[in-house]
Formats: sequence, structure tokens, C-alpha cells
Amino acid sequence: MTKHCHHPWPYVFATVLFLFVAQETLAEVTTAGLAKFNGYRAFRHLEKQCSFGPRIAGTEGHQLAAAYIRDELRSLNIPVIVQPFERHVALLDDTRKFQNIIGTLWPDKKRKVMLSAHWDTRSVADRDPDSALRSQPIVGANDGASGVAVLLELARVLRQERLDAGIIFVFFDAEDLGSASRLEEYCLGSRFLATHLPESLQFEWGINIDMVGDADLLFQKEGYSYRMARSLVDEFWQIGSECYPSHFSDSILSPILDDHYPFLERGYQYINIIDFSYPYWHTHQDTSDKCSPESLEVIGNTVLKFIRFKL
Ligand SMILES: [Zn+2]
Repeated sequence: MTKHCHHPWPYVFATVLFLFVAQETLAEVTTAGLAKFNGYRAFRHLEKQCSFGPRIAGTEGHQLAAAYIRDELRSLNIPVIVQPFERHVALLDDTRKFQNIIGTLWPDKKRKVMLSAHWDTRSVADRDPDSALRSQPIVGANDGASGVAVLLELARVLRQERLDAGIIFVFFDAEDLGSASRLEEYCLGSRFLATHLPESLQFEWGINIDMVGDADLLFQKEGYSYRMARSLVDEFWQIGSECYPSHFSDSILSPILDDHYPFLERGYQYINIIDFSYPYWHTHQDTSDKCSPESLEVIGNTVLKFIRFKL
């Protein structure tokens, strides 16, 4: 595989100094001219979502965040559709209206790939050390906002280039409303899309990102992805561990029920990129100060390089 991590200046000097430049080096110089993923821009999307408070169906924070995601996509001239669904959720003890938000870059391309993250947040802090606070909703800086932040910044960068495929950006609602006794109530948005996938959104392969903002970032290979879409995982890791060896480990995580799973179940190649070693998971400490622009840039750049390599 060619080098994916570009360090533009040495290559520019090489071009000046040597008449016979290896093809790979030229490719790197070209890559250096492409738009860059900006971790600080992504981080502002993360902070903005946190400023809305918890993003649970039926709350103001949910409405504000949905409008923010839709407006950001539309400001990039990316057409947006909303996929509404309504259902009863035991954790909320209520029937609520949910929405998947879907923006497609170059919808006319026959070939498409899907990038996804969940935009909702958990309605309880069931792992909080303070048991008195466990019934309160979390702000979800990493678990919720980080994936959305990276997708929105990726949309800005990718719309400036011409790739040989359409990119479907999916923001899933209701990922995080399940419980140990009701696993079937996790990933409601992705289950709904997987079973109601319009012809126009058929895709070749997908990447889900979740909890990608931890300032102490370490990705391990998620178990379902590794078992059911191994070649995609290995390709992704080849790029990630070449560029960011300290953030990509070759160890295998236990399978995690997440928004990729409903698609894996239906035979799609769909991988989940998640840093599950986050001590603030499902606690009130999952706030933006535990996340960093650098981490968002690590995952953003890796997804970007992967897409440029594949398409
Ligand atoms: Zn969660």
C-alpha cells in the first residue's frame, strides 16, 4: 500500500531537488493540495451540540441539535432528507418522535458509501459514580457529539473534491435508549433505516463512528466489525496505524452493539470505529473538556484518507 500520511515539505523539496521523482512522491505532493480536515472546526461542532444540553427526543435540545445538523448540511449545499419514526421506549416510559437525518453528497452517483454517527444522547447516567444523579440525562460530548462533529467537518472537506461515488452522511437518532434487559431498544434509528432503506440510499460499504473524541484516544478493532467485515477493518487499520500508530491498537474489542450492527446483520460491509476505553462513558463527566480537537483530527483524517484510498 502507498503512504497515506503526507508530510508536504520534504516532498516538495524532493520534487525540486530530483529530476526523477518516484510516482508515489508525486501523488503525495498532489494530496498536499487537497482540503484538510480541521480538528478545531470539528471541535466547535462538538461544543455547539453540548450547548444544546441533552439531545433526547421530545426535548428542546433534541430540536435544536436536529436543526443545527440539517442547517450545517444545507449550508454546504448537501441535500437533506429526514426519516421520521415514532415508537415507545421503556427507558423513557413514553412514545416519542425520532428522526434520522440523512445528507447525500453527489446523490446522482450510482455508487455510494455511507458514513454514520448517532446524534442522540443517553437519557440516564447509569454509570455515574454518584447514584443520586444516575436518573439524569448526560450531555454526551464524546458519546453523541463527537461522531456528529467529525461527520460535519468531513462533509465540508469532501464536498470540495470529486470522488467516484456519492457519500451518504447519516445521523442516527435513538442509538442510546436501550438497557441490559432491553437490548432491542438500542440502535433504534439504524434498525429503522436498515429495514426502510430507500433505493436511492443503497450503498457499497459503511463506516460508523462513535465515541471518537476522547483526549486519550485509542482505537481497538470492534468485535462484530472484525468478525463480519474483516477486510474493511484491516484496510482501515493499515491507514490508521501507519499515520497514528499510538492511537490504533491491533487488539480486538468485544463485540459492541452499535449502529453498524443492523447493517452487518443484513449482509452489508459496515464497520464501527469506537474508542471504548473512555472512563466517563454514560456519566455526567462525559463533557467537552474530556475530548480534544487533536483526537477529532486523528479520526477525521483517517476516514478521509480511507475514502480517498477506496474511491
Ligand atoms: Zn452511549
